[in-house]
Amino acid sequence: MNLTILGCHSATPTASAHPTAQVLEIKGRLFLIDCGEGTQMQLRKYRVKYSRIRHIFISHLHGDHFYGLVGLISTFLLLGREAELHIYGPKGIKQAILLLLKLGKAYTNYPLYFHELEETTPQLIFEDDKVSVETIPLDHRVYTNGFLFKEKPDDRKLDIEKARKLNIDLSYFNKIKQGFDVENRDGKLIPNKEITFDPPPPKSYAYCSDTAYYPEIVPQIEGATVLYHESTFLEEHHHLCEKTKHSTAKEAGVIARKANVGTLILGHYSGRYGNLELFRREAQEVFDNVELAEDGKVFTF
Ligand SMILES: [Zn+2]
Repeated sequence: MNLTILGCHSATPTASAHPTAQVLEIKGRLFLIDCGEGTQMQLRKYRVKYSRIRHIFISHLHGDHFYGLVGLISTFLLLGREAELHIYGPKGIKQAILLLLKLGKAYTNYPLYFHELEETTPQLIFEDDKVSVETIPLDHRVYTNGFLFKEKPDDRKLDIEKARKLNIDLSYFNKIKQGFDVENRDGKLIPNKEITFDPPPPKSYAYCSDTAYYPEIVPQIEGATVLYHESTFLEEHHHLCEKTKHSTAKEAGVIARKANVGTLILGHYSGRYGNLELFRREAQEVFDNVELAEDGKVFTF
């Protein structure tokens, strides 16, 4: 599982601080999460093979999370894209994007599907044989969802040596990987556990931005391999959180601790702070394993 941070800053883009966008590579799928202004330049800069993106997940309709979307859609058109593109985002996103394309007479030549969201409880919005994606309803000034990406468990790993020794027919190997007990050539039933290893535990990634401190999400993200949680402010500016419905680094740390996640990644920093290490230090008062998102940084889990 690789996470490439394309942008991790809030509000206004600057030459060195890009608004929110990230690419998650999970089980060979490439998902774009949020698409702030300039995302397509960042995709090029960090050499992401972005023609492979088939699914884009938009958390909410604040500009710093989706103003790059119409640009990316029209670039795909200019590049002659033929593959389907699916966009998941709040109700209204279809109208917003299609109006801009229509006014410029720029209709896509590839199938473009919108999956509009308006539920306030977690919904399964994508699933294939390897991965599932659920919404994580958040608490922000406008309707907002985070997203929980989960790997499905792999097949069991075959212990070939052992299976040969126990005189098992090779044609059973696929059944064994799926967890079945099988008979060997002598007619003896061999329990699956004797000839397989457990597969590695499935990984998961919880993306939570933007949101006020919202412990209601904890049961859903419990035990996630990685949690990205916004930390727009430090505690010294806690009073700004109430009005803007954002979180502090410490609050992100508390969510990570309550949910017992593996790693916490902080991001969505307000432009008022010069030293991002202060965010790490503050979150580490309550949770040890804290990483700082930076534009262009790649995390591997
Ligand atoms: Zn926002």
